[in-house]
Amino acid sequence: MTNTHEQKRTVDAVIVGAGFAGLYILHRLRGLGLTVRVFEAGKGIGGTWYWNRYPGARCDVESMDYSYSFSDDLQQEWRWTERYASQPEILKYINHVADRFDLRRDVTLETRVTAAVFDEATSRWTVRTDRGEEVAAQFCIMATGCLSAAQVPTYPGLERFKGKWYHTGNWPHEGVDFTGQRVGVIGTGSSAIQSIPIIAKQAAHLIVFQRTPNFSVPAHNAPLDPDYERSVKANYADFRRQARESRVGFVVERNDKSALEVSRDEREHEYEARWRRGGLGFSSTFTDLLISKDANDTAADFFHAKIRSIVRDPAVAETLLPRHYPLGTKRLCVDTNYYATFNRDNVSLIDLTKSPIEAITPDGLRTRDQSYAFDRIVFATGFDAMTGALLAIDIRGRGGKPLKEKWAEGPRTYLGVAIAGFPNFFTITGPGSPSVLSNMIVSIEQHADWIADCIEYLRHNGRMAIEEATVEAEDQWVQHVNEVGHLTLYPQANSWYMGANIPGKPRIFMPYIGGVGVYRQKCDEVATKGYEGFRLK
Ligand SMILES: Cc1cc2nc3c(=O)[nH]c(=O)nc-3n(C[C@H](O)[C@H](O)[C@H](O)COP(=O)(O)OP(=O)(O)OC[C@H]3O[C@@H](n4cnc5c(N)ncnc54)[C@H](O)[C@@H]3O)c2cc1C
Repeated sequence: MTNTHEQKRTVDAVIVGAGFAGLYILHRLRGLGLTVRVFEAGKGIGGTWYWNRYPGARCDVESMDYSYSFSDDLQQEWRWTERYASQPEILKYINHVADRFDLRRDVTLETRVTAAVFDEATSRWTVRTDRGEEVAAQFCIMATGCLSAAQVPTYPGLERFKGKWYHTGNWPHEGVDFTGQRVGVIGTGSSAIQSIPIIAKQAAHLIVFQRTPNFSVPAHNAPLDPDYERSVKANYADFRRQARESRVGFVVERNDKSALEVSRDEREHEYEARWRRGGLGFSSTFTDLLISKDANDTAADFFHAKIRSIVRDPAVAETLLPRHYPLGTKRLCVDTNYYATFNRDNVSLIDLTKSPIEAITPDGLRTRDQSYAFDRIVFATGFDAMTGALLAIDIRGRGGKPLKEKWAEGPRTYLGVAIAGFPNFFTITGPGSPSVLSNMIVSIEQHADWIADCIEYLRHNGRMAIEEATVEAEDQWVQHVNEVGHLTLYPQANSWYMGANIPGKPRIFMPYIGGVGVYRQKCDEVATKGYEGFRLK
């Protein structure tokens, strides 16, 4: 056994996942002089942007915001080409970052972590992979992604389907040509809304199967305005500071007025202006859209009128109207020509609430009332969000307790970053943190910085052994996350934030809605108080 080989089997930290989170925490921990191994299931780095190659995949947080802030040289030199970067461009960026900071040499690709078990005798984690490798590490960091466990519905008959099927979150690297094909897209969430307009242009016929209609705002994507780029780059530090202090991790024009205190004309004017600007800022048109149902109804009415004005067939337009949950409480989508695509002759919309899917058939699928034939199925059915990738690993903490058992009633964490009973174990953008409700790169950098600072603190204070959230701190945090969540309209929707897209998953509002800025302050306060709520040995 060579020394290097031996060194690779015992490291200071193991990181699982090589997306934005895994790569940045690797960079930080290396900077502290730690030895690190990163395991990544994919054949390449990039996480979300490695897997989600479906047509139309792009970010819906604007490019100048959706990028790392940790290196000024990087943010000054990198040039985005569009207002919203496409998946290939983001993947190029993350690969550039990996090369620029020499990150690849600690990343082992095509290797899935299957187990992480805490050994109380040695205070170390034993991490096992599907390649039979076993690594011991003091720190175990899960950068496994909130939207990385693709969810394919378990309809009977899929194995007998004669055509090909795809999940948007695990798209073939060679691409898919739908020219001349009859295609069925199942699902109408964000990925469907991005891909449907493009698939419709290629396919001979496209049938969209919709269970829940979504609110989608136009992106108005365009080449990045060079003046805007220059102005951001001239003040990037301030731009990033504002993002960090904001509610969602990027700056949106705020309006402190209630939707109910202004005249009907003013309201329509404001909504129209946001619609024309495009993008996620729509839900901040008024201050109370996510806390007052009456206020929210005015935004929903505006949306309904827009959809009716775009979609020519009134029956199709009615089917596309989201009615049963407040706007913004399921993830707001951002699109290019989504609603207008339903005006095409080769596109049909099927309402699954009237007639649910019963089975996939060799030729397509069967709902309760009818059979449909097609050659290709696209599952745009989303992810087992926030907990799926974590619970797919056999994680065992103190006393051999499985995380699955601890989270049987839903995830419990302290700050979304630590778990009582799981010493020296961290989750990046875990449940109980703003994560999916924010510009995730801001949240990823904040968590990775916080974890790196914490590890540095432990080492400098000779407290190498244990850093573990207390049950009391965790209980209080879980209660706080719930209380804040229930002050808003969010829990009213059957959303993936609530675990509602996964049969049998406990219904808990998983992300922290208190805001990125407030949350950061709370985390900093915990650190300043010598890691309050943690037991240090
Ligand atoms: C289509 C799409 C569009 C999005 N657009 C935006 C956006 O506009 N703005 C925004 O803020 N966020 C967006 N997101 C969220 C996006 O996931 C985050 O922004 C960010 O990319 C997450 O990075 P990550 O490193 O935390 O996780 P990921 O990028 O998901 O990476 C996690 C990695 O961990 C690996 N992994 C998981 N389990 C294991 C295991 N057991 N062993 C080994 N490897 C494992 C996975 O293979 C994956 O590569 C989008 C997500 C999707 C799916």
